[in-house]
Amino acid sequence: MRKIVIAIDGYSSCGKSTTAKAVAAELGYAYIDTGAMYRAVTLYLLEHGISFEDLPRVEQALHEMHIAFKRNRKTGRNELCLDGVIREDEIRQMRISNLVSEVSGIPAVRHAMVRQQQRMGRKRGVVMDGRDIGTTVFPDAEVKIFMTADVLTRALRRQEELALKEEHVPVEDIVENLRKRDHLDSTRTESPLRRAADAVLLDTTHMMIDEQVDFVLERVSASLFSLAAAGWQGNEQK
Ligand code: C5P
Repeated sequence: MRKIVIAIDGYSSCGKSTTAKAVAAELGYAYIDTGAMYRAVTLYLLEHGISFEDLPRVEQALHEMHIAFKRNRKTGRNELCLDGVIREDEIRQMRISNLVSEVSGIPAVRHAMVRQQQRMGRKRGVVMDGRDIGTTVFPDAEVKIFMTADVLTRALRRQEELALKEEHVPVEDIVENLRKRDHLDSTRTESPLRRAADAVLLDTTHMMIDEQVDFVLERVSASLFSLAAAGWQGNEQK
């Protein structure tokens, strides 16, 4: 069956990655968490003492670092590897969340990550979540979803995720972080967070994960059906 690209963009902690992972598993597609890549760049710069303002050094660092995803055989999940080492836990910490939007706003960082994401999805058959997938990385994605949710709901979800990793953060701090990131992500000059004209809006405030997954899978079925129908019509005209 023909494989497509599914782009899931939207605000932080709306359930994008949980939904995207489940959709990818259901379809046998690869799941690519593009936020993890920006988080890994941030971690690298911090660990190497590189100032975000030192643009020549940041550009050099982009050539030096190696970002990849490695499949964990036990969980079946793709985990982020920075220079060959799995760094999933570190990249999710608040210290990274607090700085990542500054780093992701640097044009050289965006160019390098977008190029790598386009290479990862060139054979299609991917579910990619992020901020600019439907607008910049794969403007030709067959299915585009734009997720949003009430900020307090998002903060409570994030607080629960962090607590599972023994990081206990007051909800007000998370709300502040989400608001700041939303603002930086939406107002940067290079590929800002915005809904693509052809993206379907999905407000997850009152939705369960299963409902979100079903919503996306329905869109996928509709897209595959219309692609097949277009193919049949094309054949008839020949
Ligand atoms: O999705 P997540 O919250 O992990 O993303 C972390 C940050 O990475 C976002 O706040 C945003 O600054 C950046 N990002 C981006 N473009 C993407 C994915 C993430 O700028 N495609």
